[in-house]
Amino acid sequence: MGKLNSYWEQNQLKGIDYTIIGAGITGLSCALRLKKMDPSKRVVVLEKGVMPIGASMKNAGFACFGSVSEILSDAQHHTEQELIDLIRSRSAGLEVLKSLVPPQAMDFKVHGGFEFFTTDQEQLAASCMAKLDFVNGIAQEALSSQSVIFQEVKNRFGFGQVLGTGLVNVKEGQLNVGKMMRHLLQRCAQEDIWIIPGVEVLGYHEGPNSCIVHCKALGDLSTEKLLLATNGFTNGIAAGLVTPARAQVMITEPIPQLQVKGTFHMEEGYYYFRNIDQRLLIGGGRHLDFDGETTTSMETTDNIQSALDRMVRDIVLPGVTEVKIAARWAGVMGVGSQKRPIIKALSDRVFCGVRLGGMGVAIGSSVGAQLAELSVK
Ligand SMILES: Cc1cc2nc3c(=O)[nH]c(=O)nc-3n(C[C@H](O)[C@H](O)[C@H](O)COP(=O)(O)OP(=O)(O)OC[C@H]3O[C@@H](n4cnc5c(N)ncnc54)[C@H](O)[C@@H]3O)c2cc1C
Repeated sequence: MGKLNSYWEQNQLKGIDYTIIGAGITGLSCALRLKKMDPSKRVVVLEKGVMPIGASMKNAGFACFGSVSEILSDAQHHTEQELIDLIRSRSAGLEVLKSLVPPQAMDFKVHGGFEFFTTDQEQLAASCMAKLDFVNGIAQEALSSQSVIFQEVKNRFGFGQVLGTGLVNVKEGQLNVGKMMRHLLQRCAQEDIWIIPGVEVLGYHEGPNSCIVHCKALGDLSTEKLLLATNGFTNGIAAGLVTPARAQVMITEPIPQLQVKGTFHMEEGYYYFRNIDQRLLIGGGRHLDFDGETTTSMETTDNIQSALDRMVRDIVLPGVTEVKIAARWAGVMGVGSQKRPIIKALSDRVFCGVRLGGMGVAIGSSVGAQLAELSVK
């Protein structure tokens, strides 16, 4: 890229109030909240990809707030109140998302979220069934609902090597991730939020009156406040907050006889799959190589992709002889020792909203909004 030294270029990059790094669901939602609070402010979003290339464009599109085994596993390290707060924050986050993107614009559908157990997981299944009332109590409290949210369900999907009875979360939804992101990008354009793609931020330093952001391609840029919405990539700018966690997925060509409808969790959430456009989208297998998957690389690996192939062949579609894979990809999440996101001030001028784990579709919009509100105080 040529030098950005024309009067016009330099002028447009002056007087920026808020610079957000990262055009994922968090960064875009944050930008929209900033503009809503004060339309006169200049808000710029810097994105290293030619389009958003983070987890927000790579994920599976589960609009979920937890499966029974996940909630029970969390119960080992969290108080009951914390469990309620976790579920409530995910459900509330989805409402924030829906206020930015109308449900029909992102194909939001509630087909239920299912959990099935493999034949060697009888013990886990039995303990989930035994604690169903406890989990329902937590979910009902979190959602202020009287209705039964988690119920037993038969394997009516033809899955192989699973127990005959599983569980369903009747309130779990799914959405089209690409449509969700495009709508957010369009809304940002309408609100005069300047998203500059192809700009990687290398670092920043704080001066007495502004923050100087060092960017590849753009050079140095001065901003009143700097907001990090970089999730799994945060170490590149502020080390030590987030651990990157790669997640791999694949999608089939359309399968006319596909019975899968809804979102599905197996092996305590380490495998997940859903229907989309008469195709099967399946992901997971991170537990097969935690060390190898602790990376910001977006390459897929043979061992995990083979495990996904086996899941499809043996468990999800055992009766389907020819399954063609249309695409395989990987994305990077941000995780840590706790499930809660980090929304905090790093200094008077620099703020972050990161560590969204595997729940960013549910909580990303509200993390973005909270980041915005924190930065204007
Ligand atoms: C395969 C996969 C499946 C998932 N499935 C689900 C699911 O079904 N449901 C769910 O709720 N969650 C799911 N998640 C998690 C969810 O996608 C994330 O939590 C969420 O997208 C995080 O959004 P974000 O905006 O915080 O981060 P991101 O979407 O990762 O956005 C960060 C952005 O910052 C940019 N960036 C980073 N560093 C720099 C830099 N130095 N300079 C400029 N730009 C930079 C990146 O390019 C990126 O676009 C999944 C994740 C993956 C990877």
